[in-house]
Amino acid sequence: MMRKISILDTTLRDGEQSPGASMTREDKVAIARQLVRLNVDVIEAGFPASSPGDFEAVRMVCDAVGDGAVVCALTRAVESDITAAAEALSHAARPRIQTGIGVSESHLRDKLHMTPDECIERIRRTVLFARNLCDDVQFYAEDAARADCAFLARACHAALESGATVINIPDTTGYALPEDFARRIRYLFEQVDGLDEVVLSVHCHDDLGLACALSLAGVAAGASQVDCTINGLGERAGNCALEELVMAIHVHGQEMGVFADVNTRELARTSRLVSSVTGMRVQANKAIVGANAFAHSSGIHQDGVLKNASTYQIIDPVEVGMATSRIVLTARSGHAALEHRLEELGFEFDEDTLDEIYDRFLELADRKREVFDEELESLVGEMGRQSKSIYSLQALQVSTGFPLTPTVTLTLADETGKQHTVATTGDGPINAAYSAVNQIVGVENELLEFDVSAVTHGTDSVGEVYVRISGPEGRVFTGRGADPDIIVSSVRAYLDALNRLLHSQRSESDS
Ligand SMILES: [Zn+2]
Repeated sequence: MMRKISILDTTLRDGEQSPGASMTREDKVAIARQLVRLNVDVIEAGFPASSPGDFEAVRMVCDAVGDGAVVCALTRAVESDITAAAEALSHAARPRIQTGIGVSESHLRDKLHMTPDECIERIRRTVLFARNLCDDVQFYAEDAARADCAFLARACHAALESGATVINIPDTTGYALPEDFARRIRYLFEQVDGLDEVVLSVHCHDDLGLACALSLAGVAAGASQVDCTINGLGERAGNCALEELVMAIHVHGQEMGVFADVNTRELARTSRLVSSVTGMRVQANKAIVGANAFAHSSGIHQDGVLKNASTYQIIDPVEVGMATSRIVLTARSGHAALEHRLEELGFEFDEDTLDEIYDRFLELADRKREVFDEELESLVGEMGRQSKSIYSLQALQVSTGFPLTPTVTLTLADETGKQHTVATTGDGPINAAYSAVNQIVGVENELLEFDVSAVTHGTDSVGEVYVRISGPEGRVFTGRGADPDIIVSSVRAYLDALNRLLHSQRSESDS
């Protein structure tokens, strides 16, 4: 009999902990809707006790998801955290509270200052407390991969006896080797009575590039849930990438006796949405969803693939939604055609937003004749980010060439509608434009990364620019801009990052 592997997606919680990947509530709702289309089993929506914003985001995700997935909220083993999570989940059709505590020697001694017995007592108390507020409680044993095995078994046993329905074994620091991790899971199944009657989950980090291998080792040893994130986002080197795990199960599920009930054709689109919302680019050679994942450049390979695709290719790109772009719309497409196409791509908007998107679409279609799906997604993604604008681009004039000194005249509007114009020169047109922006915005920042790429093929493609900047306290912000003119994209991306920096400064001075 084939065993089902549940997929818990924690892009909205662990993924958001990637430096620079913070998301607004609206971003989280858009990703949650897409995760439902992808058909994940559980969505970890946030950590409600961490901030009022996160509390509200969890609530909004519950409303958006309905009964499309279990919605889970993270807590520490602290009663007030658990109460906040239960409140935030009160709208969920299928709520789950995740609570837990560090169980390794260093967590007990250096972080928690607890004896092992005190830790077990805390587990019993808090799991029971959570169970009284919610029927579905996931217990995580933080740093389980480095914990003493016998103590880990005791902790799991205590959680089970107190009513936990899922036991989560994380490799919090990404330390383990697959075979050792599997042995640990098998040991737990042998030692903990009743563990085979609940769900055992694994949560692995990619510090050694092993997150997916560790998760699969866990599955082979009997785990029936895996915590993942889209594009492998997450703390430090990130979590197990959902698309990698799901496709590994897709390719090898038969021999492993397992399957995952995920709509693989939504993988590429989900990856693009998360990348565009967070501004965290996917590297070209990334497995499954990278731009080169299905590209063959060697002549020998190309020949083989043309004769029989399976010669050098284990996955059909169509199966993960990486099919080639097709023409969708032109300047002659009407409002209804655009709305229909957006619906097919999974977007829902109110009338006002649709009108705004239509205007932007016409502007784009006038300039580049054919608009592809990816360009439409890029435009919508960018508009979502621009809605939080403090400064917006009004006009830009650039004169550059060889051997000219690049000159830029730039006008920005602030949120009161007041216009600011600056003319300046620079080493290059983007350098000149950025120094004009800085003269107007006037906030200390450092450009850490600048990346430009084409959304589709062809020299007339929309150019997407990603930037990463660090603010006065070293916090990292990402920005993204899309336009057929890459100097315009560059300015939009920089403004997006600066707007996010300004917003965070404001929300900090509010609280
Ligand atoms: Zn984690």
